[in-house]
Amino acid sequence: MKNTDLKKVALVGTGFVGMSFAYALLNSGDCDQLVLIDINKEKAHGEAMDLNHGLSFAKRNMLIYDGDYTDCHDADIVVIAAGVNQKEGEDRISLLHRNFKVFKTIIEPVIESGFNGIFLVATNPVDIMTKITLELSGFDSSRVIGSGTTLDTARLRYLMGDYFGIDPRNVHAYVIGEHGDSEIIPWSQAYVTTKSVYDIVEYSKGKFSFNELNNISKNVTRAAQEIIKAKGATYYGIGMSLVRIVRAIFGDEKSALTVSVMMNGQYGVDDVYVGMPAIIGRKGIEDIIVLDLTEDEKNSFINSCNFLKETTKEIKCIKHD
Ligand code: NAD
Repeated sequence: MKNTDLKKVALVGTGFVGMSFAYALLNSGDCDQLVLIDINKEKAHGEAMDLNHGLSFAKRNMLIYDGDYTDCHDADIVVIAAGVNQKEGEDRISLLHRNFKVFKTIIEPVIESGFNGIFLVATNPVDIMTKITLELSGFDSSRVIGSGTTLDTARLRYLMGDYFGIDPRNVHAYVIGEHGDSEIIPWSQAYVTTKSVYDIVEYSKGKFSFNELNNISKNVTRAAQEIIKAKGATYYGIGMSLVRIVRAIFGDEKSALTVSVMMNGQYGVDDVYVGMPAIIGRKGIEDIIVLDLTEDEKNSFINSCNFLKETTKEIKCIKHD
């Protein structure tokens, strides 16, 4: 019988992203138990050992161990960071097909374990992999969440903080849409402290410019490629984004985070997972925040959703493989 006071996370995929999340979680102390699962059992075992050796220095005690899918039965959250990478010359659709097959080998045994909590997906392309998780699990969409544009939003806030000379935590701006090339920054909704970015630029007497905001947009979208070129992969930022979402769930925080959520008619869009600010609490997605977008922003957002929908259709054809 599970002690319901204990907060348990099961992590599937102990690669760069998974372990950056696990390490950040050990340091944040946001859960009591963490089980590491990977197709490479030896890797998961070594990672659990390594993390356990940090416990003496952690701010609280935790149970950390390597396990298998049966260990998900009493987990509150299953975080998925497992996946295969693009082979040289491989197109996006065939990568999707392979990751679809990987997810079948993960979601089915997780469900068979009796897991009845919340899925949190990081594997790319995250919006589509989250939709696949929804379909394979049969869960309500409130309990299937993707990391969405949380990382992109954090990148935006960092760059804006740097440009305007302010703590990124006092920047209120969002990246919405696909976690990828078609993502959008609705500048009409961007604030630094209590001031609209448009007003700040307008009244800055040339100190700040709309041109530079455009450069920030481009740098947000290009950031992943630049990091991958420099060091092979990105993982610290996404690891911390995942911890932030986990904390919002366990703390029943009702925090607004730009996770990947299922659209249900907002802006006339439905049946697609996409990054939008949503209220996160103990039950998962509790609400989706509809932004007051300009016509242009709305059209770009709808285009991003349409792109995701079209790509997801390619996967549906192998649904019954
Ligand atoms: P990685 O190759 O380091 O790790 C992947 C792990 O998945 C490996 O340990 C591998 O053994 C495991 N794995 C593969 N198939 C499995 C299966 N069938 N069952 C269980 N485990 C399996 O990759 P990474 O750098 O950690 O990236 C992981 C994913 O996260 C990628 O899809 C990457 O694109 C994505 N990512 C997402 C974001 C985001 O913002 N959502 C940011 C960065 C990376």
